[in-house]
Amino acid sequence: MYNTRKLKIEKTEQLEALAIASGELYSRTVTAFWRLVRKKGIWLSEYSMMHWQNSKELHAHSADAVVQSFYASLKSWQRLHKIDHDAKPPHKRHHYYKVQWKNSAIRLKDGVIRLSNGKGNSPLIVAWQWELPKMVELGWNGVGYELRATYTIDATAEPLGTGTAGVDLGEIHLAVTHDGEECHIYNGRYLRSVKRYQNKKKAEISSHIDRMKKGSGRRKKLKTRKAKILNKLDNQINDILHKQTTKLVATLHERGVKTVVIGDVRDIRKGLDYGVKANQKLHQWSFGAARWMITYKAERLGMEVKLQEEAYTSQTCPCCGKRHKPNNREYRCPACGFHYHRDGVGAYNIRAKYLGKETLPVVGLMACPIGVRYAV
Ligand SMILES: [Zn+2]
Repeated sequence: MYNTRKLKIEKTEQLEALAIASGELYSRTVTAFWRLVRKKGIWLSEYSMMHWQNSKELHAHSADAVVQSFYASLKSWQRLHKIDHDAKPPHKRHHYYKVQWKNSAIRLKDGVIRLSNGKGNSPLIVAWQWELPKMVELGWNGVGYELRATYTIDATAEPLGTGTAGVDLGEIHLAVTHDGEECHIYNGRYLRSVKRYQNKKKAEISSHIDRMKKGSGRRKKLKTRKAKILNKLDNQINDILHKQTTKLVATLHERGVKTVVIGDVRDIRKGLDYGVKANQKLHQWSFGAARWMITYKAERLGMEVKLQEEAYTSQTCPCCGKRHKPNNREYRCPACGFHYHRDGVGAYNIRAKYLGKETLPVVGLMACPIGVRYAV
């Protein structure tokens, strides 16, 4: 289990030099790798590459991490290429690149963290009021440098009961949970409006940038502005997701849930009409992010998280088991007359499916869902 803490830090000559040294090593790795492929038809292994490509300015393990990053993107390209034949392998060189310090290079003493850059180089020293991290990364967030510290979390908390809850991730609603008795709806309206605004801004500024001369000062300025705005909105989106998922997990924990069953959203099928590909990517991202946040927060409280294939869970009547496609927010079964909030039905059925019961006595479904809105 991992958790990340971010800390913004002022740009200094040392940070610039480190990021450039890392970029230089990364670019050298990319060039060396593809040159060998082109000239000799050899795909050099990660291990050999780490031995071959080093940096005098970086800690040996930080240098390894740069090479490993290249191989990681190579691997993800190989996976992606099976589905998307247009996917391009990593070939871009970077002037700047992130720097990672592994635990062997990290010391913490008297509120100061010391990140070693190898023999003969001065270490990076930063005031640090928190515990010793497992890994530290220096990166650029579009506006400035930041340190990202990774911690391992040990799940020591215990679940309060043995209950099971179904979680339906959606678009209109960020998430709906059903624990067999109570249904909670986590409203997604605010999140959606921020995302929509972010898309609009992105398109707006991009078209401005496109109209400007390449390499011009104004273009550069606008690019910085774009990164700043998008970054701020990213933080807002993250904040909403964090608040809502923390509330969700805490509520399930209080209600004695031990197993959290999340509907496996592989393809987007719900609610809205997705025309634009970029839009879809964003939606997929927020599903992924919500799922990831719910998972680690639940595990931190000792609960277990399972994925449940969710075919027909939004259509099956919990009362009589017949299938029927709801055409508005209300589910109404034409066969038996049962009616309930549509997303509540989804969460209820995800739970039922996981428990191996297509139809359960519908006691819990009589209670009205409880709405949870994001409060700014
Ligand atoms: Zn029915």
